[in-house]
Amino acid sequence: MPELPEVEIARALIADHALRRRIVNVDDSDSYVARPHPPGELRNALTGRSLTAAHRHGKTIWLETSGTGDAAAPGGPELGIHLGMSGRIVVTGPDGSVAEGGDPYRYRARPDQARWSRFALTFADGGSLALLDPRRLGRVRLSPDIGALGPDAAQVTPAEFRALITKGTIAVKARLLDQSKIAGIGNLLADEILWQAKVSPLERTGSLSAAQVNRLYRALRSVVESATAQGGAHTGGVIAARHAGGTCPRDGAPMVHGTVGGRSTWWCSREQVLRAGQPNRV
Ligand SMILES: [Zn+2]
Repeated sequence: MPELPEVEIARALIADHALRRRIVNVDDSDSYVARPHPPGELRNALTGRSLTAAHRHGKTIWLETSGTGDAAAPGGPELGIHLGMSGRIVVTGPDGSVAEGGDPYRYRARPDQARWSRFALTFADGGSLALLDPRRLGRVRLSPDIGALGPDAAQVTPAEFRALITKGTIAVKARLLDQSKIAGIGNLLADEILWQAKVSPLERTGSLSAAQVNRLYRALRSVVESATAQGGAHTGGVIAARHAGGTCPRDGAPMVHGTVGGRSTWWCSREQVLRAGQPNRV
C-alpha cells in the first residue's frame, strides 16, 4: 500500500514529467474514484489547462493548474490525487516513454491492465497521465482538503513530534498510524520505525520515556528518508521478517505477531519488550 515514500515518488515523477503539458481531454468516467464529482465535472474544470506544480502532504498529492488562456490568466483549480491501497501514477511522454510510481510491488507480477485506469489526462503532445488502481480505492478530486491532516512525517519537528506522540494513552503504533496526528505513515513504515527504535508497538503513548521518544523521532526521519530513496516502505530492514517463523534481522529472536491499531503488526520478541507496568493488551 502506498505510504509517504511511494506517494513522494509519484509526486516527484509528476513534477518531472507531467508539468506544462496542455490537457486536451480528461477521462473522469469513474464516478466512484472521482466522487463527489459527477462524470464530466473534472473534464470541464481541467481541459485546456496544464499542471504547473506538484505538492504532497502525508499521502495526499495535489497539483496546481494554469489558466486556460495566456500565461497571465489566473490559475485553475487544484487537483487532488490519493493513491488509496494500490494506486500508481503512469505518465507517458510525447515519444511514448513511460514513467511510473506509487504502489511498488503488490501487483508487479502482473502487467498493467487498461481496465485499472481510473482517471486519465490526455496531453496535447499525445502523452498522458493515468491513475492505475486495481483495487479502486484511490481518489481524485478538486480542491482537496488537507486541513484535517497532522504535520507531514518528513517535515515534523522534534517538538511537534514529542507533543503528538506522547499525548493520551493509546498504543504507540496506533498513534503513528493516525493521519490526523502525523501524516504519511502506514503499516509497514510504522513497524519499521518501532523496530529501529526498539519500542514495543503496544507501549502506551503517555508512558513513553524521553529516550524512547528520541529514538522514535530519529527512526522516523531515517526510515522515511531511506524508504523514499530506495523505492518504498517495503525496502525497510525488518519488512522481510514480517511473517510466521520470521526472525529479527538484528538479533535473530523470533518475531511476534499481533493486531495493533487495527493492523497486522510484527515486532522483535527480545528487543521490543513492553516496559514494566504497561498493560499488555491492544
Ligand atoms: Zn531483535
